[in-house]
Order: sequence, then C-alpha cells, then structure tokens
Amino acid sequence: MTLRELVEKFSRRAELFRSAPGGAVKCLACARACIISEGAAGFCGVRFNRGGELFAPWGYAAGIALDPVEKKPFFHVLPGAKALSFGMFGCNLRCAFCQNSQTAFPPENAAPLSRQKLSPEALTETALENSAPLIASTYNEPLITAEWARAVFNEAKKKGLRTAFVSNGYASREALEFLRPCLDFYKADLKGFNAERYLKVTGGELKKVLAGIELVYSMGFWLEVVTLVVPGFNDSPEELGAAASFIAGLSKNIPWHVTAFYPAHKMPDTEPTPPETVLRAQEIGFKKGLNFVYAGNITSSGDTENTLCPACGKLLVERRGFSVKTNLLAGQGACPALLPIDLKSSGQKSGACPYCGKTVPGVWQ
Ligand code: SF4
Repeated sequence: MTLRELVEKFSRRAELFRSAPGGAVKCLACARACIISEGAAGFCGVRFNRGGELFAPWGYAAGIALDPVEKKPFFHVLPGAKALSFGMFGCNLRCAFCQNSQTAFPPENAAPLSRQKLSPEALTETALENSAPLIASTYNEPLITAEWARAVFNEAKKKGLRTAFVSNGYASREALEFLRPCLDFYKADLKGFNAERYLKVTGGELKKVLAGIELVYSMGFWLEVVTLVVPGFNDSPEELGAAASFIAGLSKNIPWHVTAFYPAHKMPDTEPTPPETVLRAQEIGFKKGLNFVYAGNITSSGDTENTLCPACGKLLVERRGFSVKTNLLAGQGACPALLPIDLKSSGQKSGACPYCGKTVPGVWQ
C-alpha cells in the first residue's frame, strides 16, 4: 500500500479547512496554511482535496506504545506516569536531523499497524487497561492529524484521562482553538533561533514557530519546550541564548529541554552533540533566567534532569534516564518513605516544595 493509498483508505472529511476559489481548499491545521487544488495533497502529504473538500487521516496507527511521560519529554507532568502513545505518518516540516524519520517520512510501502480501522474507544481502552493516566499523540507531527487526535482525546476525557501533544510547534490558531477543550499538555520544539537556517534545515519559518509557541502558552496549555542541540546548526552560545531569552520572556517557569542530537536521517555523518555542549546550553538557559532547564540524551546526564526547587535549591524530583527515583511534589500521591522525615505528616500540597513551600509549576497529580 502506498502512502497515498493508505491515507485515502484511512481518512475522513476534515474539519480544519475552508473552501478556496476554483475547487481548491485552504487547510487550517498548521502554520503552513496550504492551498490545495482538487486531487492534490498538502505539503505534509496526508491531507488531500477530494471533490473540493479536505480529507484527513483517520482510524489507523503507525505506532502505539506505552512510554514513560519523561520520554515525550514532559518533566512537570505526572512524573513516572505511563503515557499511551500513538502516532500516524507524515510531517509538516522537513528537518534534515529528524529523529523520527520512519514515521515522519515513511517509505512508499508504509503500512499501518493493523488493516482494521482503529477507534478512539479502543485506544482509550488500551490506556485504561495499562493504567496509563495520559494519552499522547506523538511519533509524527500531531497537528496534521488534529481531527483524529481530537476524537481520541474527547473519548479519553470521558474516561478521566489527561491528553498530550508532542509537536514541532508549527501551529495555527485554528488548530489550537479546535484542540483546546480536549488537550492538556503541549510539547513544542524550538529548533534554533536563526531564521535563515531554520528555513533551510527544517523547511519552517522561525517567526511562525515563535508565534505558535506564544499561542500555546497564552491559551493556557501546559507547555514544555525542546531544543535538539545540533552541532553546526544551532549550538552557538548566541543562538542558544536567544532561544532561552525568548522562552524566559514568555515565562521563566516554562521547562526547557536541551537534548543531544545523534546522527540520523539526512545528517548521518554529523557527529553526536558532545555532552559538554548540551551542558553549556543548560547553563545558558539558567543564566537567561529560566527556572527549569534539563539537559538530556547524554550519557553523563547525572543530575542534569532533576527538578530542583527554584527558591531553596533542594532536590524535588530525581530522575535517572526515564525513571523517577524520587518525587516530592506529588503530595498524597508520593510514597511517604520518600519524604524527608520531618515532613511526613506535614500535609504538603501537590506541587509545593516540602522544604520551603514554594509552588513548582506543573501538573503533579
Ligand atoms: S497540515 Fe499543514 S502541511 Fe498539511 S496540508 Fe495542512 S497546512 Fe499543509
């Protein structure tokens, strides 16, 4: 089955579009706002015009897995929780360093996990059966399949689950408004801060990414930002500093994840990011005023992925890889044995530092 055959089979009339002159449609699902003529597909290759109407992916999965929420990565959302993660095919960017190219740019004979139609109810049931309090659209760009994500999230919400997007942030206002009632958490990429290089290496316009991130934040989604630090692309102190300043300008409490690149996709010969470069990026983030900066994807992570209280500096959430060793922010949800002795019966509230009482932003229960 070619990708086109796959999306023709697993699709449904979209909601995020408008008619355009001459039988074309304007897609509203992402910042690209493609005008798509009859019979053609948009830039992402998975939303297409059939008879003057836009059709979008529906009812299949390219991948489903039970991942730690830390892998998304969300560090201020339910530490240690499992996230039922699902993804489809296609992307609205063309990053040369893509770390998800099997799903973002699938081969022509890409196949879904099952030839049977998948339902939002089945995905939600899988999350419940596996005690996952969270369901996440991930592995490819979820904005391009926003209608399907909304159907899954609406079902998940009925069952009391939380919902998440793992996105490149190339978002439209229309898509964010469409998703807001059923979407809680949003991971957005900020892949650099040089407009020319952004366009050349990712195919996206920096100003639209920044506008997307601002919108996500201003609309009240819980936002965490990721920058994959790629040697020679975005690893200069000036560029990392500009990215950190932009995030801090929105809020110093937005977690910023700076992570190491490994050779992939169209950059197989670029060296992995040296750990010291990622650690320097973390230091830059703190210097620019961010309260929570995490250095990830490096072997010498040590304590670079722990959450410390921004007021008193004490360790609050200790992580090793994707596992959580200690979590002092979950209040009644935390094992009392993990709490400092004199705080065991203090009745601390979720998200408050048990040492100084400072509220640590996030969703901890
Ligand atoms: S989702 Fe974005 S890239 Fe895909 S058709 Fe719509 S506007 Fe174009």
